[in-house]
Amino acid sequence: MDKTENNNYSREAYTMMSSIIRGLKRTCPHCGQGHIFKGYLKLSDHCSNCHAPTGEIRADDLPPYLTILLVGHLVVPSLLFVEVVYHPELWVQMTIWPALTLILTLSILPFIKGAAIGLMWHLKLKGDEQH
Ligand SMILES: [Zn+2]
Repeated sequence: MDKTENNNYSREAYTMMSSIIRGLKRTCPHCGQGHIFKGYLKLSDHCSNCHAPTGEIRADDLPPYLTILLVGHLVVPSLLFVEVVYHPELWVQMTIWPALTLILTLSILPFIKGAAIGLMWHLKLKGDEQH
């Protein structure tokens, strides 16, 4: 495959935000119709609708970083609020919060990865750029 193939798709018909939102829906950031995932986090080589080469984009650590940032900002204030207001038993705290953190992380990560792929698609980044 040509390494510049993803640069041949014009991004002028849509904005960066629409590309991110399409990715957030786990659909192709170019056409918004096709699916870009063939598994939980595994990208298809091409969009199932327009054949845009979204599979060559490597988001690396951005989706986990953003997911940890988001989940941490949801769970930690909630944990502190519940501790200060309700004073539950320690075993209750040690049961609820790790489970909630795990569930939220695994639920949000695929959508954040889609959004990261959408952003990288719009910026014509593949994740193999040299600095
Ligand atoms: Zn597409």
